[in-house]
Amino acid sequence: MRIHDPLNRRHFARLGHPLIGLPLLIYLTALQARAQEGWWMREPIRWVQTNLRETDAGLDPRRLIDQMVEYRANVLHFSMGGIVAHYHPKVSFHYASAYLPPGKDLMGEIVQLAHARGIRVVGRFDLSKTRKEVYDARPEWFFRKAAGGPVIYNGLYSTCSNGGYYCDHAMKILAEALDRCDVDGLFFNMFGNQSRDYSGNFVGHCHCDSCRRLYRELYNQDLPEEPDEQYRRFMFRCSREVAAAIGGLIHEKRPKAGYFNYIQESTDGIMSESNTAVSRPLPLWPYASSDNVNRARNSEPGKMSVNLNMQFVDYPWRFATVSEHEITLRAWQNMAHGGALTLAVNGTFDHEDRQAIEAARPIFRWAAENQRYYASQRSAARVLLLRGPERTGRSYSQSSYRGLFRFLSEEHIPFAVSENLEWLGKREFDLVLATDWAAPELAQYLAQGGHVLIVSPRPPEIHTPRVITIHKDVESYFRIRNTSLFPSLKLTNLIMLDGDYTEVEGDGSDSLSFVPPSMFGPPEKIHVDITNTNKTGIVFFGGGRAAWIPWDLAGLYYRHSLPAHAGILRDVVNRMLPERQIRTNAHPLVEMSLMRQGSRTLLHLVNLTGHSQTGYFAPLPMRDIRVELVGNFRQARTVRSKGSVSLTRAGGRTAFTVPRLTDYELVVLE
Ligand SMILES: [Zn+2]
Repeated sequence: MRIHDPLNRRHFARLGHPLIGLPLLIYLTALQARAQEGWWMREPIRWVQTNLRETDAGLDPRRLIDQMVEYRANVLHFSMGGIVAHYHPKVSFHYASAYLPPGKDLMGEIVQLAHARGIRVVGRFDLSKTRKEVYDARPEWFFRKAAGGPVIYNGLYSTCSNGGYYCDHAMKILAEALDRCDVDGLFFNMFGNQSRDYSGNFVGHCHCDSCRRLYRELYNQDLPEEPDEQYRRFMFRCSREVAAAIGGLIHEKRPKAGYFNYIQESTDGIMSESNTAVSRPLPLWPYASSDNVNRARNSEPGKMSVNLNMQFVDYPWRFATVSEHEITLRAWQNMAHGGALTLAVNGTFDHEDRQAIEAARPIFRWAAENQRYYASQRSAARVLLLRGPERTGRSYSQSSYRGLFRFLSEEHIPFAVSENLEWLGKREFDLVLATDWAAPELAQYLAQGGHVLIVSPRPPEIHTPRVITIHKDVESYFRIRNTSLFPSLKLTNLIMLDGDYTEVEGDGSDSLSFVPPSMFGPPEKIHVDITNTNKTGIVFFGGGRAAWIPWDLAGLYYRHSLPAHAGILRDVVNRMLPERQIRTNAHPLVEMSLMRQGSRTLLHLVNLTGHSQTGYFAPLPMRDIRVELVGNFRQARTVRSKGSVSLTRAGGRTAFTVPRLTDYELVVLE
């Protein structure tokens, strides 16, 4: 159970979804009965998604499977049904592609041929849209805009995920698909009602009779005019009930098949995407794949992360490919954090722009040759970074989260990201970091002896020194009052503050103190009226095991990359985390992840130096990276540039040199 989710599962099960026949409780019981971990957790995964167009229904399955074999891919994510089926369904309101020859079962042939060559097949469904004739027959199944009309896009009508199509008829469609075809899993695109269409047009939220009735049953209210927090929780809850029912059906019909979706609840594999969009605000996030995979694998360690490596620039340009070096960086990051190696293409391998396919090809080959290292990895990190989940209905600051993420990576501190508080006190961590989501559960963790660092002007939901007031939108500074506390800041007296500062009871005169705003122009007047206070910029509490920096230090670091901000973070983290798992002379743009695989320890190094502004280029090769790891290891070898590595051991640590790093290296320690 998600401790922080007010709509917990017990509540779900008791209430039940009036439209879903399969009670959630049965599903949960069935899930617990699944004794063996699925193939997605046991096997190394090299996943290719082909987003087929309806015109691809005439493709030659033999040629596609030959291409998969040649590519060394072992999971084919293949369009199966929903908007267009690649077989001839018998269930009503489900239609084969008009380009599929009569009597041809493309999906069946694909599965048969793939299985004969050792390739697994995950069927792709999109239940979010269907044809006009379905709408004409059953309009109540469809998304209804506030003004009353349906959402129509390229002739397809949007269904409502609370309506009878999604909740009832789709189960018949899926049951037929699962009965006729021995798939290894199912995937669902565009799950839940989307508020924008593919062109970005705002369609709002659904006002269909099902939505109205369900909302009234739950809240005794009419649907809101604008989506608010309660509405978001409503949709979250409803979508998870549908998800649970779909998962139950898959596991009932095909107990060995996996359920893959863009959500953490009820699934076996958590899908995500590393993608681009032309209107997305800069800067680019070069850790996109690490972020998605780390977060999925550590929020739900029992599930696989399948982070799709999207080849295209944005929807209108599906046949234009991003830099090959962005593709390869994502591929290495996926693997370095214990996720599936992936590539997604629109259409087939016979693509209009084959750069991404050819960029990833040598990585798929390499991963196949070294596949023994890429299954059953688990994070060995001893620092936990919490990210506020959207499911709680609260906002979270992406820049603050990313600031901490980037800082930890640049400092080579192995860390696990989690949206799930279940791991507090269950997995061993030396330090837990929180940005704007310092949840009440942290109090118990602290009481049990844990260490917590909170970096946010938002007051934590645990007992801290008293909040006096919140100073909004301050353009000023903090003053370093104690250089022994901040050894990284020998040259710096003043630290930039831009944003909210929460004044907390305490004395900053021997740490970091607030400087109220003063004049900054013209130059003759620069800060001539500056004053000092003893208002503190950091408080320690909980017997010194907790610290709260009550301003947006992490967000400031994300936006401006000032070494002074990183310096404060470094010095506070060093104080709270005396033993670092890794000490190294590596460049900050060498990303390191520390994983466990059975008795092995795996150190992954990913070279990010090829990223600049809006570009991804070949990373700069590096030599002789010194690494000192906690633990006594007997032997080590580098896998990408093959060789054994000589070790020296002292004081419970093992030191070695990685002779060469091009794009990626894997050090195997035993
Ligand atoms: Zn609806």
